[in-house]
Amino acid sequence: MLSVEEAQARVMDEIAQGPSELVSLSDAHGRVLREEIVASYDLPSADNSGMDGYAVRAEDIANAPVTLPVRGDIPAGHPAATPLDPGTAMRIMTGAFVPEGADTVVQVELTDGGLEAVRVDAALRPGANIRRRGEDIRRGDVLLRAGVRIGAPELTVLAAMQKTRVAVGRRPTVAIFSTGDELVGIDEPLAPGKIVNTNSWLLEALVREAGAVPVSLGIVGDTKDATIAALERAAASDFVLSSGGVSVGAYDFVKEALETLGAESKFWRVNMKPGKPVVVSRLRERVVFGLPGNPVSSFVSFHLFVAPALRKAMGQDAGLFPPAVRATLTHPLKSAGERRVYFRVAVNGALEASPLASQGSGSLTSMLGANGLAIVPEGITRVEAGSPVDVLLLGALR
Ligand code: AMP
Ligand code: MG
Repeated sequence: MLSVEEAQARVMDEIAQGPSELVSLSDAHGRVLREEIVASYDLPSADNSGMDGYAVRAEDIANAPVTLPVRGDIPAGHPAATPLDPGTAMRIMTGAFVPEGADTVVQVELTDGGLEAVRVDAALRPGANIRRRGEDIRRGDVLLRAGVRIGAPELTVLAAMQKTRVAVGRRPTVAIFSTGDELVGIDEPLAPGKIVNTNSWLLEALVREAGAVPVSLGIVGDTKDATIAALERAAASDFVLSSGGVSVGAYDFVKEALETLGAESKFWRVNMKPGKPVVVSRLRERVVFGLPGNPVSSFVSFHLFVAPALRKAMGQDAGLFPPAVRATLTHPLKSAGERRVYFRVAVNGALEASPLASQGSGSLTSMLGANGLAIVPEGITRVEAGSPVDVLLLGALR
């Protein structure tokens, strides 16, 4: 059976970088940058004061304590109109440009704070408390590469460069439908034999978290015709995500419907638990992910195959897959050893991984509080408490 890595490689081979679009800076947060950002000016744009204090010449305070006449104020945003005369001081505020002629700022704490004349109590080396022009950013520096995700720090740098509009990856649309005659919506009665269609909600949320746009196609009955019709309706979206109907049950029609429509199968079944029967096909120009119906199988296979594909389509070029850390297991894990198993765990800041109490692939509560997937490799039947274990991180440590 196909390994997870081989299956991931086959998925990624199918994914082309999607189009970019220009958006306003306020809409760029969380998107993938699609242009290189080169500094258009030096930052700071001039030498400026790192402290509230007095602009002086270092040589004039070399014999401190000394008293110097104060020749005016330099508030932030209001550069001095005249240079500093030798033997004098100017009161200067943090961020204000240092006047010509001054080479040092004495912080107010080292003075008597005088307004007409100031007593400086300590000598300072030239350049003290001055932030140099260009010490943060130099005009021409490459500040951001295409392919990075725009978080708060990236947004800040884009704002500093006065980028009112930014090229970002267009958010792909993802058609989502859930197959199953047993499924009802959240506002429908739970008749005997019925269960709530939770996967559509799970997958729509995961698609949004990945930065793409879910398009809900609802519940699809367990017939081949209904499944074909759903796949046709999904053709307006960039990707298709289905849940259920990919196993070997008598009413599992997703694969058959794909074949009838002439889809090119990339794989069916991966050596993993949960999520083994996942199917990936190319139907004309779009990739279809047929995820298994068990909620946790859908959850795990989304993180392993779908989220990385969506990120690549938006133009992200690093960090496509969930990052792996080495953690210490707090409780033993048991596996049949046939397939690689992904256990839901809670990982803390000390990198201790605690398996969630319930690990069934239908267990909704096994996803609650899970910020990691601990991997027990094929062939291993037991991992003891205290042993190291590889964990794929799905969220922040807690
Ligand atoms: P399937 O992959 O269609 O064989 O479904 C496997 C299991 O997942 C069955 O117990 C289904 O009832 C359950 N299941 C399938 N689809 C959903 C869904 N949309 N929401 C919640 N559970 C589902
Ligand atoms: Mg089913």
